[in-house]
Parts: sequence; structure tokens; C-alpha cells
Amino acid sequence: MKIIAIGRNYAEHAKELNNPVPTAAPVIFMKPDTALLKDNKPFYHPDFSEDIHHEIEIVLKVCKEGKHINEKFAADYFDEIGLGVDFTARDIQAKHKEKGLPWELAKAFDGSAPISDFLPKSQFADLYDLNFKLDVNGQTRQAGTTKDLLFKFEFIIAFVSKYITLKKGDLIFTGTPQGVAKVAVGDRLEGYLEDQKMLDFYVK
Ligand code: MG
Repeated sequence: MKIIAIGRNYAEHAKELNNPVPTAAPVIFMKPDTALLKDNKPFYHPDFSEDIHHEIEIVLKVCKEGKHINEKFAADYFDEIGLGVDFTARDIQAKHKEKGLPWELAKAFDGSAPISDFLPKSQFADLYDLNFKLDVNGQTRQAGTTKDLLFKFEFIIAFVSKYITLKKGDLIFTGTPQGVAKVAVGDRLEGYLEDQKMLDFYVK
């Protein structure tokens, strides 16, 4: 399986990092399966970065193979959603952005993709009216709503599948709202989708 991630899909987050707000096409990057962290296992802070940021995101699970998927039918290609954290080594990313280099070392490292269990999307009345948030040590750091998505899930699936075949089990991280910040050893991260706690793990 592969993990595809969307950058700058919430305008206020793009702005907080002084990035342009994309209009025509989303920013896409990938993480390997070795980035996955499941079952609320602790995230071990790597020593190559002094500035690992949390990015809470809604994650789509792809349920069937497809390429060149028409946006009209894209909803058929994901049946479950969950929450994930797109851990980002912001210091490494900043250096690579300066030089116009790819972001992999900042985004794809081991454990950089904690994910929750997944829920059937049919459980939610409106996928474009979902609240989600991340608490760190009991304080809400990020709170978002899918009302603010720049690129909707169906558009993302159609767009990505023009270039990369999607397969059953692939995950799509759909972007983070504003409030990204540094994590420290000892932090407790709790993620909520609507009122349901989906993530609860420590940084070690
Ligand atoms: Mg992200």
C-alpha cells in the first residue's frame, strides 16, 4: 500500500506557513508504508530534527483500484475515513523548500504517519461538515472543519488517479487545518473526529 498526502488544502494553514494558497491543483507528496504507526503506539521523536510538527488530518481509505477516475464517480473509491497525523520535520522541510528540493526527508520518515482505526463513511451525514481536532496535553491545538477544504475528496481522488493508480488499501491524507506546532518528548496527542476520540498516543 501507499500513502498519498495533500499539502495546503486549508487556506489558513497555507497562510500560517507563508505559503501560497493553491487554486488549480493541490500539492501532492507520498509517504512509504514504513511511516505508518497504528494502535496508538508511541511516536519516537527522531534525533535528526529539532522541530517536528503535528498536522492532524482526515484520512481516506481507498476501497478499489482505479486510474483516471472521473470526479463524478470518485466517491465510490473510498468507503472509510479515519484520522491521522502527518508528522513533519519543519526544519528539514524549510531547508529543502529553500533549495526547491523534494520533501521526503521531512515527511516520509519512520513513524511519521500515525493513523486511527477507520469508520464507514456512511456513518457520517455530510462529509463536508465534519469537525476534527487535535489536543496536545489536554489543550486544543488544531480544530478544523471539512467545510474549509480547498480541494474536496472526490477532486483529490480524480486528480491523483490521473497520475498514480490507486489501489485498495491505499491511504490519502487530505491536509491539515491551521495551528500546526512543535511536539516535544512527553506530549500526549489526542485526535477527535466529531465527538469520537480516534487517536491517543504519546511522543517518546
Ligand atoms: Mg499535511
